Amino acid sequence: MRTVRTVAELRRELAGREHVGLVPTMGFLHEGHLSLIRRARAECATVVVSLFVNPRQFGEGEDLDAYPRDEARDGALAEECGADLLFAPAHEEVYPDAFSTTVEVAGVTDALCGAARPGHFAGVTTVVAKLFNMVAPEVAYFGQKDAQQAFVIRKLVRDLDMPVRVEVCPIVREPDGLALSSRNAYLSEGERQRALGLSRALRAAEAAVADGRVAANDVLAAAREQLEQAGIEPEYLELRSAKDLAPVERVNGSTLLAVAAQVGRARLIDNTILTGDQ
Ligand code: AMP
Repeated sequence: MRTVRTVAELRRELAGREHVGLVPTMGFLHEGHLSLIRRARAECATVVVSLFVNPRQFGEGEDLDAYPRDEARDGALAEECGADLLFAPAHEEVYPDAFSTTVEVAGVTDALCGAARPGHFAGVTTVVAKLFNMVAPEVAYFGQKDAQQAFVIRKLVRDLDMPVRVEVCPIVREPDGLALSSRNAYLSEGERQRALGLSRALRAAEAAVADGRVAANDVLAAAREQLEQAGIEPEYLELRSAKDLAPVERVNGSTLLAVAAQVGRARLIDNTILTGDQ
């Protein structure tokens, strides 16, 4: 695996390569990221992993400075999973002084994480559009962990006719249910225990739906009970159509249940897709 830091080097390395797969990350890799890299390795001739903590997707007062970084470890893990290239650009390579363009998907970015983090998704779509132009991948791999992000990126690609296929991979969890996240590094042992409330809330909602309780109020009450038991006040806990992210009154067909909560210093998100009566 080679590490490249400039777009020029990246393009030189990729010249003449076909069937390129891209896994965009902010680093501090864990099994969630590695599942995307392994999938790319299985499906593509060339695998590029990008490593860039994108300041534009962090709001003021968020954890940009504290965000965990360990490039040496990330490089070793990416290589073990079969990546061919690690693209780890400096800030100025991505955002030179005169940079002034924003790529923004409207509407679906207003709710959920977008409501709590104004400008976050514009930061995400701007950097993802740039990465797509830099790498020109045939396929790009994202995690269902960031369900709204995956939705927004699919829409970005569709709206702008970007010649890239977006693959969304399942959420990887710890054996006890906690969704893997680079931000889990912030949790103390006690906070980590409390954080289990998120995945327990999702499982309780799934059980309610399996029981035939498909009204939004019932599903959300089942989830909220688990959050309360863990002492977690969610930033949001919402049911949305998985098709267009519109709010729904009942689980009917493919429905996203998404939760976000601050646990200690970590802002955690998790979600599940519920399928009730159709
Ligand atoms: P990040 O480094 O947090 O920007 O994440 C990079 C990619 O990894 C995104 O597409 C995430 O959705 C994905 N990802 C993060 N955590 C997980 C997880 N637990 N399971 C699957 N994918 C994940």
